[in-house]
Amino acid sequence: MEHADKKMDDIVSLCKRRGFVFQGSEIYGGMAGIYDFGPYGVALLNNLKAAWWKEYVQSRENYFGLDSGIFKHPRVWDASGHTSGFSDPLAECKVCNNRIRVDKELEKVGVTADEKMSEAAINELFDANRENIKCKNCGSKDFTAVRAFNLLVKSNLGDFTGSGEEVVYLPGEACQGIYLNFKNIVDTTRAKVPFGVAQIGKAFRNEISPRNFLFRTREMEQADTQYFVRPNENTEAYEAIKRERWEWYIRLGLKPENLKWHQHENLVFYAKDAWDIEYNFPSYGFDELEGIHDRTDYDLSQHMEFSGTDLQYRDPETNEKYIPWILETSVGLGRMFLAFISDAYDQDELAGETRTVLRFSYKLAPIKVAVFPLLKNKPDLVAKAREVFNMLKKEVMCEFDDNGNIGKRYRRQDEIGTPYCVTIDFETLEGDTKDTVTVRDRDTGEQRRVLISELGAVVTK
Ligand code: ATP
Repeated sequence: MEHADKKMDDIVSLCKRRGFVFQGSEIYGGMAGIYDFGPYGVALLNNLKAAWWKEYVQSRENYFGLDSGIFKHPRVWDASGHTSGFSDPLAECKVCNNRIRVDKELEKVGVTADEKMSEAAINELFDANRENIKCKNCGSKDFTAVRAFNLLVKSNLGDFTGSGEEVVYLPGEACQGIYLNFKNIVDTTRAKVPFGVAQIGKAFRNEISPRNFLFRTREMEQADTQYFVRPNENTEAYEAIKRERWEWYIRLGLKPENLKWHQHENLVFYAKDAWDIEYNFPSYGFDELEGIHDRTDYDLSQHMEFSGTDLQYRDPETNEKYIPWILETSVGLGRMFLAFISDAYDQDELAGETRTVLRFSYKLAPIKVAVFPLLKNKPDLVAKAREVFNMLKKEVMCEFDDNGNIGKRYRRQDEIGTPYCVTIDFETLEGDTKDTVTVRDRDTGEQRRVLISELGAVVTK
């Protein structure tokens, strides 16, 4: 456990040191649960999103993309159940006012609990276990009673009353936009049930205790698919979706031993089934990465009732009218980012030295190729290196670096996961080796000479 804790600390510090992730509003002392993605972080994030988008919107004929507005009519959150039921159990330390999320604290001491329990039930459990739960700030065991704390974040968008009466919420989950546009998509595309809609969007939650770096944040991005099927034709499609999501993670490079399935025991009343893909996060072990939910017709029925708009689908073949059932996948991009960076993180020995390396697949690596002139003060080398850099950067994300010695430049690229480093040396300029460069492989450290004219084929795939 000590080793795993250290790994998490090392990853957090690497993310900061190398410009992947910064604490939000850091110069003002930071903001809990908010993170900013730096230059390499945004590149990794974009690569993850592109891989996910390609899987659904590009590769499948029956999935359609969407990008709905962040703000939605306030009734949306009544229909979805968020204004009444989207809460976590909160208690406050009476000594220092530190707030705890009671279900998570109970789990830490080996008591099964979750956020869906009634206020009375969780109070009973909490009372029976108060002896074992200490405030992590001051050590006191004196907490208030548990109350259900609603996680929706409020705004005054379009509210000019000055009294905050007309609340508009930030989305507690991104997927609602898909339900709201179900009819638009059916009416404007050739979508026929069964079909899916894919969307990446922002969500906000007033998490009681944001923690574990990118795992639990107050602002997040979610990648969701909603697959619409005929009523009662859910089981086979659900199994296929579960399988595909698992395989997608493996194909993109996660180690199978770091993934596992978890089936929900405490289902919401309308759900048929719910599974999570869990990832073995460093320092706290297996926890939810992605949720895959078999949701029946609940979402569209609710919006039909609350909006008064007919959201039934007319089957063009049978002329039958029905509300489609929904199979949902939902993953937070921050959790996905953390899973991939943790999985890629490695320390090994190369040429007698310990190094840190991120072993990203080529597709995910923020920078694909780094180009170095062997020496900074030799204009011919620098000019040739610039020429090679300008050629490669048209194809892929490249970086030019002439700082410090070559060994140091390799270490830096290893730490950000760059698969190839290209060095322009004196042999590039003359003799039998003219117009060749060395290409160094991140994982093995091996170098080989390659003709500049063939470089594109070697390092841009
Ligand atoms: P948890 O039980 O961990 O709070 P949840 O079951 O509430 O998560 P969902 O509402 O199903 O999560 O959200 C779908 C996905 O969004 C989750 O699988 C997770 O990847 C991501 N997610 C949810 N809450 C957060 C958060 N606070 N920070 C980062 N990602 C989140």
